[in-house]
Amino acid sequence: MNQRQLFLQHVAQTSDAPLALEIVGAKGVFLYDVHGKEYIDLISGISVCNIGHSNQQVIDAIKLQVDSYMHLMVYGELIESPQVNYATNITSHLPASLNSVYFTSSGTEATEGAMKLAKRVTGRTNMLAFKDSYHGSTQGALSVMGSEYWRNAFRPLLPGIIHADYNHDDVFKLLDEDIACVILEPIQAEKGVNLPSKEWIKKLRAICSEKGILLIFDEIQTGFGRTGKLFAFEHYDIVPDIILLGKALGGGMPLGAFIANRELMKAFTLDPVLGHITTFGGHPVCCAAGNAAFEFLLQNNLIETVHIRQQQFRDVLVHPLIKAFRAAGLLMTIEFESWDTNKKIIDACLERGVFTDWFLFAPHCLRLAPPLIISEGEVKKACEIILSACDEVFKK
Ligand code: PMP
Repeated sequence: MNQRQLFLQHVAQTSDAPLALEIVGAKGVFLYDVHGKEYIDLISGISVCNIGHSNQQVIDAIKLQVDSYMHLMVYGELIESPQVNYATNITSHLPASLNSVYFTSSGTEATEGAMKLAKRVTGRTNMLAFKDSYHGSTQGALSVMGSEYWRNAFRPLLPGIIHADYNHDDVFKLLDEDIACVILEPIQAEKGVNLPSKEWIKKLRAICSEKGILLIFDEIQTGFGRTGKLFAFEHYDIVPDIILLGKALGGGMPLGAFIANRELMKAFTLDPVLGHITTFGGHPVCCAAGNAAFEFLLQNNLIETVHIRQQQFRDVLVHPLIKAFRAAGLLMTIEFESWDTNKKIIDACLERGVFTDWFLFAPHCLRLAPPLIISEGEVKKACEIILSACDEVFKK
């Protein structure tokens, strides 16, 4: 059997039509398949590889850590410098109230931990989430996911979850003193880059404070410069009570985190002690990699170029098939009339050497989320390919 057959035979599948592209290398913004074909990556592992693939500083940090130690012992007991250094570094770039980091192994675990923390701190059990939001696939995170289609097959899920319309004032009437937390993405990524108004976010913040509800921002996809700020909450001049991180946090290695105030986090230390524990969360090699990636992002001022590159995409991607262009930094989309058109364009892009896809709750929208290191020339090339794919589909 060849690799493709073995992949289909032994690696569990999540759809009945996997791309099954065999990638053997990745460097910068490029992926290379087994036939030597080059693809410009406009997905970045869904906003993981913000500083590009195979970054030398990250590789060196991983090697250095591997030579010292890998896994030692369950989270929380030992002082492991990669965790300490990364937590100190990240919190130094956050508002003073967000000063305690709980590391996990994935984004969905960050969601789970934060939901538990909100229950524990407030003594309440109801939670409010939004339609068309994605917070992970485990059962707590699935309970707050904003799509009945994906939730329903896995019931029963958590009780007491309310789903409101995103960026809509109706939510304010639903906020009462039985609610432990409101969880939301500061920009709804999988809805095809759905941008809320600043006023709406500010009002949400104010009412949560008034009613003692914890405001949780899921920055798993929007973090680390993706939207043109280090974290997307900075666009709104507010500070959430808890932020969720994942994806780019690990610099390409599996790492998640929820960050809150030290006083809140204390709730996990008592009654019960060990209220939330993890074997691999904050793995030293992942923290070393993440910290190196974070340093690279900051040292190279990558966030400053995000707006310039977005403008380039925005200016060039004009075509009769393109109905809209929406973006927050380099989290961008072009919208087509239907999933059918989008799929044809995705396939035509792939054939021509651009790797992209669609969004979970917006199948008619094409994902444009390149590594933030993408150069002017690479954007130009990617756009030429997308437009030529549009031309081909338009002619048919
Ligand atoms: N929240 C958001 C906004 C996400 O985009 C994702 C992953 N797509 C998650 C949570 C879950 O992260 P993970 O896949 O690492 O569990």
